[in-house]
Amino acid sequence: MEVRVRYAPSPTGLQHIGGVRTALYNYFFARSQGGKFILRIEDTDRERYSDESLQDLYDTLEWLGIKWDEGPVVGGPCGPYIQSERLELYQKYARQLVEDGKAYYCYCTPERLERLREEQAASKSRYQGYDRHCEHLSEEERRAAEEAGIKPVIRLKVPTEGSTTFHDVLMGDITRKNRDVSPDPVLLKSDGYPTYHLANVIDDHLMGITHIMRAQEWIPSGPLHILLYQAFGWEPPVYCHLPMVCGKDGQKLSKRHGDTAVRDFRAKGYLPEAILNYVTLVGWSLDGNREFFTRQELEKCFVLENIHVSSGTFDYKKLDWFNGQYIRMKSDDEIVELITPYLQKAGYISQVVTPEERRTLALLAPPLKERMKVLSDAVPLSAFLFHDEPCTDKAQYIAKGMDEKTTREAFLRGSEILIEGEKAGKDFSALEEEIRALADQMGIKVNGIFQPIRVAITNSTVSLPLHDSIALLGLEETVRRIDRAKALFDQEV
Ligand code: GLU
Ligand code: ZN
Repeated sequence: MEVRVRYAPSPTGLQHIGGVRTALYNYFFARSQGGKFILRIEDTDRERYSDESLQDLYDTLEWLGIKWDEGPVVGGPCGPYIQSERLELYQKYARQLVEDGKAYYCYCTPERLERLREEQAASKSRYQGYDRHCEHLSEEERRAAEEAGIKPVIRLKVPTEGSTTFHDVLMGDITRKNRDVSPDPVLLKSDGYPTYHLANVIDDHLMGITHIMRAQEWIPSGPLHILLYQAFGWEPPVYCHLPMVCGKDGQKLSKRHGDTAVRDFRAKGYLPEAILNYVTLVGWSLDGNREFFTRQELEKCFVLENIHVSSGTFDYKKLDWFNGQYIRMKSDDEIVELITPYLQKAGYISQVVTPEERRTLALLAPPLKERMKVLSDAVPLSAFLFHDEPCTDKAQYIAKGMDEKTTREAFLRGSEILIEGEKAGKDFSALEEEIRALADQMGIKVNGIFQPIRVAITNSTVSLPLHDSIALLGLEETVRRIDRAKALFDQEV
């Protein structure tokens, strides 16, 4: 049996980490089994639908290098793959259920349903939900309603007795009493649109889906879907509900924790390789040890059995670490390409990069590569080179545990060593040794010397390695900045 799986997003918002993980798991599973990965657009919620979300979905999958075998754009034997283009199909199957006595037309007006809700709420009735009023309408009542121009919905007859069980690969059997399943849910709305449940079940069946991997929040829909498969006389697929993606506090990942839209990660300069690798590890592992996987490797080794049962933690720091590792794997030329748009946006280099700017970028790339966690870090880390703004806040120069007077001395003596050494063409590690010796002699930590020098040159306490900063600026400019900072210290001392 060929494995056929699908990712079935609703384009009602930007693709978020959890959704993308579902897509990746389906994709990797299909690839590792030699099966098919299908993309289906569940766009029947027209109020929440947006073109922007659909475009974001396509962009995100493309950015991650995830290609679907069947779906919109590429087509396939079970198309169309966009639910709003399949309305007649859903209508046909819903009518079939009515003919088979598994579903019925309901003509209740919104007013009646609202009244029912209020009454149930007021009486604190144990039975909430639709009261099955239309299940046994007489032919006359039906005709009268039709003649009055009321457009009916179609509701599924949910058995009032017994229970329904479905099996989940990870969670085992999940059983629910039928009377706890929502009473007679709407399958087809009066405007001819299907509800999620109807369209989802029909499409999974018609598209030959063998395994359903989706978020755990869909577990409550499981029994209803099984009842629908039974009503149609179809075999349900294998279910594998995925563990939740949580923040470090154990709560479902949300904006409170940080970015959740893949687009925002991308804008900050996370690499697709890092997102793909890290997101896959939130809820899956090969052997509990190995951390680095390329897309191609995951396409071979991803198996369902290794999905975790308990929820996964999305750790932003860990992702930063992964991203830093992937940045360091890039060649210097690749880094130049990757940082260019960020520096252009900051106004540091021109839209059409000049040969001179290109030379600067080539010098910047190696030290940046070692320091960046995300590509946008290139902007603050290289700011010193593109716009000169002296730091006039003395406190910034003073390292932890130092005072102003000692800082001044450390700065004067340290920068002297540095500049004279650079002038003489000494090796930077030798200069570092001399500065270390000076620190020992003064009885201070070495950062007490380096910090004021760093702030004088780069106007930042976090910067590229000093040696690289000086090389990028040139000695003359470095000396000018150091002298300027000396003047600041001379003002009041
Ligand atoms: N359209 C649903 C969603 O957005 C699909 C759920 C499912 O995979 O069955 O999550
Ligand atoms: Zn009704």
